[in-house]
Amino acid sequence: MNKAHNILDTPIEYLKGVGPKRGETLRKELAIFTFGDLLEYFPFRYVDKTKLYKIRDLNTDTQNVQLKGVIKYINIVGEGFKRRMTALLSDDTGSIELVWFKGISYQQSYLKIGQEYLVFGKPTLFRNRFNMSHPQMELVSKEEVLSLDGRFEPVYPSTEKLKARGLDSRGINRLVKALFDRFDPETEIPENIPPAIRQEYQLTGRASAYRNVHLPESDTLLVRARQRLKFEELFMLQMDLYLMKMNRQRKFKGYIFPQLGDYFNTFFHEKLPFELTGAQKRVLKEIRRDTLGGAQMNRLLQGDVGSGKTIVGLMTMLMAIDNGFQACLMAPTEILAQQHYHSISKMVAEMDMDVELLTGSVKGRARRNILEKLLLGMNHILVGTHALIEDAVAFQNLGMVIIDEQHRFGVAQRARLWTKNEQPPHILVMTATPIPRTLAMTVYGDLDVSVIDELPPGRKPIITHHLKENKRLRVFEMMKQEIIKGRQVYVVYPLINESEHFKYKDLMEGYNSIQRVFPQPDYQISVVHGQMSTIDKDFEMDRFKNGETQILVATTVIEVGVDVPNASMMIIESAERFGLAQLHQLRGRVGRGSEQSYCILMTDNKLTKEGKIRMQTMVDSTDGFKIAEVDMKLRGPGDLQGTQQSGILTMKIADITKDQKLLAMARAAAARVMDTDPTLEKTENQALKHSLAIQKAGNRSKWSRIS
Ligand code: ADP
Ligand code: MG
Repeated sequence: MNKAHNILDTPIEYLKGVGPKRGETLRKELAIFTFGDLLEYFPFRYVDKTKLYKIRDLNTDTQNVQLKGVIKYINIVGEGFKRRMTALLSDDTGSIELVWFKGISYQQSYLKIGQEYLVFGKPTLFRNRFNMSHPQMELVSKEEVLSLDGRFEPVYPSTEKLKARGLDSRGINRLVKALFDRFDPETEIPENIPPAIRQEYQLTGRASAYRNVHLPESDTLLVRARQRLKFEELFMLQMDLYLMKMNRQRKFKGYIFPQLGDYFNTFFHEKLPFELTGAQKRVLKEIRRDTLGGAQMNRLLQGDVGSGKTIVGLMTMLMAIDNGFQACLMAPTEILAQQHYHSISKMVAEMDMDVELLTGSVKGRARRNILEKLLLGMNHILVGTHALIEDAVAFQNLGMVIIDEQHRFGVAQRARLWTKNEQPPHILVMTATPIPRTLAMTVYGDLDVSVIDELPPGRKPIITHHLKENKRLRVFEMMKQEIIKGRQVYVVYPLINESEHFKYKDLMEGYNSIQRVFPQPDYQISVVHGQMSTIDKDFEMDRFKNGETQILVATTVIEVGVDVPNASMMIIESAERFGLAQLHQLRGRVGRGSEQSYCILMTDNKLTKEGKIRMQTMVDSTDGFKIAEVDMKLRGPGDLQGTQQSGILTMKIADITKDQKLLAMARAAAARVMDTDPTLEKTENQALKHSLAIQKAGNRSKWSRIS
């Protein structure tokens, strides 16, 4: 195969029917640069024109259908925007009314009474009769019927600019046809999935799949073509992830922790304030195994809000300390770092351990002291923020790094931690961002994933209400009742001083009205928002934590990780403006003690359909994974928190949300290849190896073309 002359690398303007102008539009609008790019521009749906329906057979379940009949009459009725054109279409079984509200003069010139047409559209029932609005109409002539016979029409996504150049879905389809006239798929699209896997999963050949996905010969072939291409895409991705992971493991040796010693055991037997859940124990075992294996651990710990990740993180650090290593815990905000520092210090008190806190606001002498201790190996656990990855922070022998609430840390920042030693420390990334498991496998494919799927016993599920503005007084009343019981309340606003839209609750305005209802000195209120200085924020947070204030009015700075077990009510203002993941995070701030907790979602009276689904999902479920599933369905995987930059989710044909079964199969198949031939040396894996290399190179050049 001579790559330089591969016809699929030919610039797109050389395709019949393209030329320079369309070429430029295709490049700009769809990133189609070459013949090969067009080949990979897949239809997003198909219309079934293989069947001809009889009018009598229409029923309320019928989707788009194709009818053939004669126009009996045409009427234009109504004035202004009520003006419409109707036509009666009859076949030998009955008749149906066709309706147009737009493009009337065009239809008027096109449709002729007494002529036979092919009509394509969705029938709807109106006053007990079927009609069809804005159907596609095609005049039936002898040749046309022949060419239309048995057609599965692909529908390609197009854009306004493309349409202006005649490249609507059909126009693109014409180009694809021209492309298939230019080359021989069997030689230009070589098979790349090893034969054993093709056979096991009954995958159709690659060349045939490409042809049928664009120019389907039949229903069955189309289904098989799509199946094959989706599998291929997912399989290649999984192969890539496995290879990346293997490379990393080969490159980075990991410290071995041969023993569990006094620190871990004393803590486990004497300090642990509760029994670990089964899930926590399982995860600790997984981590223990990693630290015995000789490779660097890179593990993601996923667990719903309140599932008890912190204690797992702490015990993991104790494993390192027992083996003479230092450990650090990094949190995304100063508030969280402080909180971890205090709770860890408390838990390991009297254990002869040095725990320090290092954040941006630790300066001067105190800072120098800490840095010195680190270098001398006198510190065991360092808790901190981003400050930990500064170059000045050097350890004597850092063996374990815990990163809490990972979505605020980038991959690059993670990598900087590795360079703090000759050999990289083990890394445990903890996140509460619920991501469906199959997605996690893919997004974090190069990490190992552990899941805490069980909450500590005795938690009462949080009761969630969705209320509209007219129930404001009732909400105040509910707040009062919690405060009378000695509990505390969060009130969260989406943004401060939003100018574009007056109807959204502004934090300060809300604060003022709460102050009127809950006046001093009977009530105390804290305010925390993003524009305050760290010192002021800390001061206000501390007052709330210590129970000096009953209400905390805040923007989403409190979103992640804050732990005030006495708080039992979370009020989220303009809740429709938050995504599900964020709502779930916020709600997780309450329900941390043993008493009943509440979450109140305040919204505008008018909600979008999606907004309604989001509110209802929150009311119905407290399970982060379920909520994540809904979220993914609503927004598509690409928008999920923490996944945006991964780039992995821009799939060409597979859909991680819908193709989860296929994803699991592809992953299993890739695992098997890796098990039997990890360096892809076997003859039957050569085509795969080659294809992976091309794909890698292709991705690189695609990125360089865009930037
Ligand atoms: P998250 O996973 O959200 O970080 P935390 O680690 O903050 O959760 O734990 C939430 C609360 O649950 C803490 O107050 C913690 O002490 C408590 N907790 C953790 N594990 C258990 C357990 N096995 N039994 C009872 N309480 C637990
Ligand atoms: Mg936490």
